[in-house]
Amino acid sequence: MNRPKTAAAPAAHTGTDADVVVVGAGAAGLSLVRHLLDASSSPALSVAVVEPPPGPARSPERTWCFWEEETGPGAGLGAPVTASWRRLLVRGPGGEALGGDSPRRYLMVRSANFTRAMDARLAAADAVTRVTGTVTAVGDGPHGARVSGTDAAGRPFALTGRWVFDSRPPRALPPAHTTLLQHFRGWFVRTAEDRFDPGTAELMDLRTPQPRCGLSFAYVLPLTPREALVEYTEFSPRLLTVREYESALRHYTERVRPLGEFTVTGAEQGVIPMTDGRFARRAGRSVFRIGTAGGATRPSTGYTFATVQRQSAQVAAALAAGRTPVPPRPHARRHLAMDAALLRALATGRVDGADFFARLFRRNRLDSVLRFLDGRSALREEVAIGLRSPIWPMARSLAELPLLPRRPSAAVPRPGDPHQRKAPR
Ligand SMILES: Cc1cc2nc3c(=O)[nH]c(=O)nc-3n(C[C@H](O)[C@H](O)[C@H](O)COP(=O)(O)OP(=O)(O)OC[C@H]3O[C@@H](n4cnc5c(N)ncnc54)[C@H](O)[C@@H]3O)c2cc1C
Repeated sequence: MNRPKTAAAPAAHTGTDADVVVVGAGAAGLSLVRHLLDASSSPALSVAVVEPPPGPARSPERTWCFWEEETGPGAGLGAPVTASWRRLLVRGPGGEALGGDSPRRYLMVRSANFTRAMDARLAAADAVTRVTGTVTAVGDGPHGARVSGTDAAGRPFALTGRWVFDSRPPRALPPAHTTLLQHFRGWFVRTAEDRFDPGTAELMDLRTPQPRCGLSFAYVLPLTPREALVEYTEFSPRLLTVREYESALRHYTERVRPLGEFTVTGAEQGVIPMTDGRFARRAGRSVFRIGTAGGATRPSTGYTFATVQRQSAQVAAALAAGRTPVPPRPHARRHLAMDAALLRALATGRVDGADFFARLFRRNRLDSVLRFLDGRSALREEVAIGLRSPIWPMARSLAELPLLPRRPSAAVPRPGDPHQRKAPR
């Protein structure tokens, strides 16, 4: 086991290797550690963070976008923000421009920058130990919880922690009424001429050819007048092949929103589960799940990053106060109910996805929509949004949910999986 600093500082009062073991150094794991370091607890809690060596178990790099907190820029992340936008644009299926100035900026942070910033911070924190290993099992033990796995050389290791937070991405999803996938591939492009407004994020361009059920759209996140991340996204039951994503991106950049001459400088591909299945946040007396594994991903949007920040702050506060650190519910029940209805309406083809989202932005105040997507809307805003959506298909979808069985889902496909086209229906 690679322990660059010291072995996990024994947590004297618990008889374990560390007070807190965090499995996975991705968005949720590192955000939790960041909040633990920020939270005042005396003496400092000892923390061990386990991350696999470079290879198939490690999550690929990605970009995270989210709305800034009201309290200030950069959401206090301590990591450089790659880009930020005040103006948001949504294009309806016929090309209608919707959106406008946003009360809060939309920020992009690259995971590599976040990890680098956190690496430096963790290296300077005596209470934190990094462990390189692939975890294969997590469960309660006599004095807390036990984490076991194999190190970079394939040797077994085990760690004990008073509390364990497990963020390993779920391979299987909980039984659900509806499971769709948000899947996408994006190009980082450099154009020969100025083609982008760096002050405007083109959040959804619904002029892309639509799948039979579900939704497709493209988005354009400019970095400079000549550089942007251009991504093609679908909400649908099956992934595409790389060739199909590339063809959709070519169609978009040549026919729908012509970029002229350009080069592709990088690519990003991913899949985010969209499900109304119920994720368990507690997996044992001392074991909790965080991040996507703990249900932090908003079913209707895939947004996770901001929720993870809010949840981490609350977990860290509970630990500092000596309370049992059960991660708080990531999403309000009523948001989950609205999301479940939308997923069902999309999956059955009862609503036209492109029309639904264009209407959402056309008929509602932009700040209400953004608060809703970010899980911060008030009930009255949600009622207004509900009344301005296609009422009957949504109401029917909501009403029938309790009558439908929750079906087990297949494994979450990964972009490179050979069976990626057999995703859950
Ligand atoms: C390409 C992409 C782009 C996204 N963009 C956005 C966005 O713009 N905004 C947004 O809000 N959400 C976005 N999401 C959704 C979500 O925010 C991210 O997936 C986010 O990274 C989820 O955080 P997490 O901690 O749950 O998972 P991860 O960030 O994947 O972290 C899991 C960690 O566990 C580690 N791990 C895996 N297996 C093991 C093991 N066996 N033992 C130990 N460690 C292990 C991984 O290496 C990783 O570090 C995006 C997702 C993808 C895939």
